[in-house]
Amino acid sequence: MQQNLQQKKGLVKSVFDTVYSKYDLMNDFMSFGVHRYWKRELIRLINPSANDTLVDVASGTGDIAKLFSNVNQNQSKILCVDFNRKMLSEGKKRLKNYKNIKWKLSEAENLCLPSNSFDFYTISFGLRNTKNINKSIKEAYRVLKKGGRFFCLEFSKIQNQNLEIMYKNYSKFIPAIGKIVVGESKPYEYLIKSIENFINQEELIEILRKNKFYKSSYKNLSGGIVSIHSGWKI
Ligand code: SAM
Repeated sequence: MQQNLQQKKGLVKSVFDTVYSKYDLMNDFMSFGVHRYWKRELIRLINPSANDTLVDVASGTGDIAKLFSNVNQNQSKILCVDFNRKMLSEGKKRLKNYKNIKWKLSEAENLCLPSNSFDFYTISFGLRNTKNINKSIKEAYRVLKKGGRFFCLEFSKIQNQNLEIMYKNYSKFIPAIGKIVVGESKPYEYLIKSIENFINQEELIEILRKNKFYKSSYKNLSGGIVSIHSGWKI
């Protein structure tokens, strides 16, 4: 088991080592730009106020941090955390004018951060990649302040059978698109498998409840292709 988890960690790191420079471009290709709407919807639900603090875990190149920051004219203090050095440096380069956004190399399962520190915790298309979902959520709870809120944007289970069939058929082309855009198909074979193997909406709610998150709930977007889960630390 431990060996499997270590293998997964190594695999995920190497996937993002391969795609980091074309990560944003490929997201637009694969989702026809819809990932931008999903991320905007996440920020709309969070509805941050000026001076709110955010830790964005598995931040990649900082899409969520940027959107969160823009809501209040860069008044909020934001920390982006990722375990992949290359993704972090792409983000730093891209958002170099955002002095309120800091970057930290650390992993979701073991955040090197003090407890009770942030108003919001976000994880966008990251939880599925972590080697231990339960531990990552426990850590989210720990670093949030009392009254703080957890948000997770992630691929989920599609609710409509016809849409599911269409999506599955489309997914078969994603590795080929990866080959054209990034020059590699393997990372995108991993992506499809990781989406298929990920837990469903209710299973994630159960893990949030077990980890003491209050009023845990979710909202499906695009028919459940993705969902946004949230919960309060009280
Ligand atoms: N949040 C960004 C977004 O929504 O575009 C990036 C998502 S990208 C699909 C997943 C990111 O999670 C990668 O940058 C990867 O390095 C990071 N990641 C995967 N497992 C992680 C872990 N256990 N701890 C921290 N970061 C992790």
